[in-house]
Amino acid sequence: MKQALSRISNRIVTLFSIIFKVAQRQADHKKLTRHIVALNKQQSSTGIINEVALCLKDLLNYRLFAFVIQKEKGMDIWLDPGMYKKSLEDIIVKDFRVENRESLTYLNHTFHSDNTEEKFNMKNLVFYESNEENCLLRLYMLPDKNNYGYHDEIVNLVLQGCSTALSRQVKIEDLTDAAVIDPLTGCYNRREFENQLKRNIAGAIRHKYDLSMFMLDLDHFKKINDTYGHLAGDKVLQEVAALLQKNMRTGDILARFGGEEFIAILPETDKIKAMELADRLRIKISSKIIVHNDDTIKVTASFGVSELDRRADMTKIIQDADTMLYKAKLNGRNTVMPGLMKIISHKESEKRKCYTI
Ligand code: GH3
Ligand code: MG
Ligand code: MG
Repeated sequence: MKQALSRISNRIVTLFSIIFKVAQRQADHKKLTRHIVALNKQQSSTGIINEVALCLKDLLNYRLFAFVIQKEKGMDIWLDPGMYKKSLEDIIVKDFRVENRESLTYLNHTFHSDNTEEKFNMKNLVFYESNEENCLLRLYMLPDKNNYGYHDEIVNLVLQGCSTALSRQVKIEDLTDAAVIDPLTGCYNRREFENQLKRNIAGAIRHKYDLSMFMLDLDHFKKINDTYGHLAGDKVLQEVAALLQKNMRTGDILARFGGEEFIAILPETDKIKAMELADRLRIKISSKIIVHNDDTIKVTASFGVSELDRRADMTKIIQDADTMLYKAKLNGRNTVMPGLMKIISHKESEKRKCYTI
């Protein structure tokens, strides 16, 4: 009798657990459908992956989730949480044979050298992959629950849903890039610079904020080409562009204006601040060593700085920067014009800065 009762209760427990699992799965599939519909409405790679992360957190409660998009040019990474960057990056670098860590772009974090890093055991890290015509997608995950068969089913459905959306997005981004980005340096091209300048000047006038600009030209660049070859010259242009981007604010706009000339729009920045920035960049460029094959190359740049004149048209600010750049060349190169100089104010102890033209 006791045995029969125990058999019956075991069967009831099994039956309930099956019913519970079926109900759980149905609920999960409903959530899954909702997330897949939402990700198809997203208009950017970051938006799409964000939705994938939300979905997997909701259904599988991962401890670590990372999404890698390997494109023709570079690799985008979405990571949650950020504190495992180092451990995960080591895996990605090995898996994809990445030669230069700087080619990795993090879509949802900006890392600084003082960010806290947590090392942890990647033993149970799993990955799923989808190969699209224009990109390779790989999802890394450290799940918290232990039902791996069920995980596979969910993750495969999510990955199917997001790969078409991402591949379409990468195509759009490639087309957009081709029209606005200078292929050698990755900066905006001159046409896009003019569009951005019009937009920023209108904004500065409407909201009454300052707007400055600098134009820079590499010094004796022809000599670099002649001495080390055109490919070395190209590398110098790329490294100078990367240095400038890295040391400017996110809202600043950097473009390649022509051959070895760059131009930048600095919104909400007055002329003094622009001159200070230009001088910092000048020093950084002049102390950079560029290695190409067996050669170590050094380069300097001359800068012209100008600010928005609200009464004049758009070309005035460019002309002023160009005039100042010309003066910088005449002044011996590796210079910013107008140049900063320190003077002692009437209150003797107080140092003030003023500039001369
Ligand atoms: P300055 O200090 O007066 O500016 O002298 P410079 O030699 O830099 O100026 P110049 O105008 O005489 O020469 C510019 C050189 O830049 C000539 C041109 O071949 C080179 N250049 C322009 N675009 C590129 C490029 O995309 N790649 C390489 N490698 N060289 C380029
Ligand atoms: Mg030059
Ligand atoms: Mg030039």
